[in-house]
Amino acid sequence: MGERLFCLEANRFARIMPDMQNDASILSNSLADRLEDALPQTQCTKCGYAACRPYAEAMASGEASYNQCPPGGAEGVARLAAILGKPVIPLNPVHGVERPRPVAVIDEALCIGCTLCIQACPVDAIMGAAKQMHTVLPDLCTGCDLCVAPCPVDCIAMVDVTPGKTGWAAWSQQQADGARERHDFRSFRLQRERQENDARLAAKAAAKLKEVQAQPGGTAAEQSEQQRKKAIIQAAIARANAKLTAAQNGAEAAVSHTTSTGVADLTDPDKTPKSRGGET
Ligand code: SF4
Ligand code: SF4
Ligand code: SF4
Repeated sequence: MGERLFCLEANRFARIMPDMQNDASILSNSLADRLEDALPQTQCTKCGYAACRPYAEAMASGEASYNQCPPGGAEGVARLAAILGKPVIPLNPVHGVERPRPVAVIDEALCIGCTLCIQACPVDAIMGAAKQMHTVLPDLCTGCDLCVAPCPVDCIAMVDVTPGKTGWAAWSQQQADGARERHDFRSFRLQRERQENDARLAAKAAAKLKEVQAQPGGTAAEQSEQQRKKAIIQAAIARANAKLTAAQNGAEAAVSHTTSTGVADLTDPDKTPKSRGGET
């Protein structure tokens, strides 16, 4: 059942992606869009931002410099400098060094199946289930390192797979595009899961409120207790609705600024998003 749901969701995402990309040709002219297009999309956070897109936005607004992306290396800095019309400068070592691209390898004999690495992976490159050994799909791994720290038994090693080649020489545009799409799909899926969970909680609270309201009044003490419960449940419903509204507004904001998150209007399956493809 879970697998089927995943496939349905993936199919839906695949359906809306071309529209998002077509719209992108019209809408993706902002400086942040062009900067994002030039980033390697490993989603590693080494630049100091949660993903490539927020870094692109920070560069566009002047908040961040263009020499903070180690996976792009010197060529990456040059690409960004050209877009910004600025001189080429060295990579800032504070954010890391240019290196051969690694992929994560899990020592399956040590893995305890805690799933922490899956939760950390920004591009869904790790397969596994709770209490089962996990494995990395090397073709999907961006070498972001993000799964290493959370592993409680230190069974993930980063292994260089492009000896002698670093930066963009070790990472193709096709790989970057693939990583961006997987990151977008993951963001889409996580946001949808959060919304579904909030909606489930709101429905549960509404059912409970109905139940409490249907109870006979009884004594003054019982009525007071009933009022107390109603107030608690109504507050819970208000919180759940506020979270749902915030999530919906977040999704709308995501599509309106033509972000790379690809997060669609998650409340209406029939709406076609007006965003380009390629968050969280
Ligand atoms: S590849 Fe990593 S360092 Fe470069 S922009 Fe993306 S998240 Fe930041
Ligand atoms: S498997 Fe680890 S290193 Fe590879 S993309 Fe996922 S989190 Fe990053
Ligand atoms: S974090 Fe480490 S122990 Fe936990 S599932 Fe991943 S590889 Fe296995």
